Amino acid sequence: MPLCAKCVRDGNSDRASVIATRGSEYCADCFKVDMFGRFTKAYTTKESLLPRGEPVCVAWSGGLSSSLLVHYMNSFLNKNFKQNVSPRFSAVYVCVVDYSCLLSEEKQQIVNQEIEAMQSIAEGYNFNFKRIPLESAFTNENGDLDSTLVADLTSPEILQLKFESYSTSKTSTATPISRTLDLFASFKSTPAANPTTAVTLLNTLTTRLLRRAASTYNCTTLMTGSNASTIAAQIVTQTALGGGFNLPNEISLEYKVPNTDIVTFRPIRDLLFGEVEKLVELDEIAQFPGVAGMAEGLFGGVVGSVGTEGASVAKMTIQDLAASFVKGLQKDFPQSVSTVTRTAFKVQTGANAPGLDVCLLCSNPIQPNSQNWRASHTTSRLDDIPDIIKNEDGTVVEAPKKASEVPATGAADLLLCYACQHVGRDVKVKEKLVLPGGDWFLGAKKDCFVGNGCCDSGVSD
Ligand SMILES: [Zn+2]
Ligand SMILES: [Zn+2]
Repeated sequence: MPLCAKCVRDGNSDRASVIATRGSEYCADCFKVDMFGRFTKAYTTKESLLPRGEPVCVAWSGGLSSSLLVHYMNSFLNKNFKQNVSPRFSAVYVCVVDYSCLLSEEKQQIVNQEIEAMQSIAEGYNFNFKRIPLESAFTNENGDLDSTLVADLTSPEILQLKFESYSTSKTSTATPISRTLDLFASFKSTPAANPTTAVTLLNTLTTRLLRRAASTYNCTTLMTGSNASTIAAQIVTQTALGGGFNLPNEISLEYKVPNTDIVTFRPIRDLLFGEVEKLVELDEIAQFPGVAGMAEGLFGGVVGSVGTEGASVAKMTIQDLAASFVKGLQKDFPQSVSTVTRTAFKVQTGANAPGLDVCLLCSNPIQPNSQNWRASHTTSRLDDIPDIIKNEDGTVVEAPKKASEVPATGAADLLLCYACQHVGRDVKVKEKLVLPGGDWFLGAKKDCFVGNGCCDSGVSD
């Protein structure tokens, strides 16, 4: 029976090891101390952007990693209390984004029960608990149906976005839930890329809702439970989806979200999934498989057994493929996951430069000139669009020559990042795609749709 290496060094040589990780054997106590030490060390980096003594929003997906994070936050703040130091955060808001409007009634019941259990755990720690329904992406702060962003898909090459104020759509019978169901239904009917895009869109809306919640509750920190394994899978996914430009911001320890006061913080990004699993077991942390698995199989992920009819076989998404690839690495080459993440942590793309335009959909920075890059590298070309030449004060000197072929106000290629441009293009049914478009979602970007020339896209006749 292997013994704990640390205990052997300290002269307590009778402690059995419970886990072998990072080239060492640990007993339960030494392992727990080491892992919690890694979590607290994340707060002590030089030149940290992390605000002190202000409210924090903790994103809880119900998965093992974020459940550990909520547990760690309680231990951390208790330690502050015992050591009589001022608490690192003045209040904790635990937020769960609830996708149950997309699920069957039976699954909704399981999710509801688990969310109630999660609430009592959070409130038992004296944290505030907030359930954020996915469909609230389509509502304003009062919970009423809000304005929308409509993608016009009639042209195969130029995707146009339009802003529709709530007052013009008042006569419709839409509800926040029907809007959400319609949005995700647009990706169900066609094969190939669509399940991947649907999962991407779900993740995008979740991130936007969490940032909105953080702002609503005056939280200046948004904490997520990303671990080394989920980050490695994200590196593969983002690279495959054309999201490489913003990758450094999606995996860094800290990230100041543009145009907000929010710093995203990932304090357990160095923990491997196997370590998280062991900690959950040792500390007897409650598990919520129904909530954690809400999105599983909704748009893909189910691979039919050999010989089943094509119709019943859902496609594996890029996210599923990346996750199973990382799982395989973890099993057979345990060190490689850290190698992948540490390599990606060194990548710099310029996505942190100040003053970059942000994407209307994901609110991440847009790579300058990415639309030109796409035009020259892909088959969905934006042909015959001449450069718009401007004076220093922004007035247009030379209007584009073929006005009829030029995207006017709202051209998606100028308003969306490279990765998000897939969202419109992957909808094969030529119905309009309706996205959230409330003030919180569009912010100042709403001006882009009223033809006042705030963006390069503001070309009017
Ligand atoms: Zn030990
Ligand atoms: Zn985007």
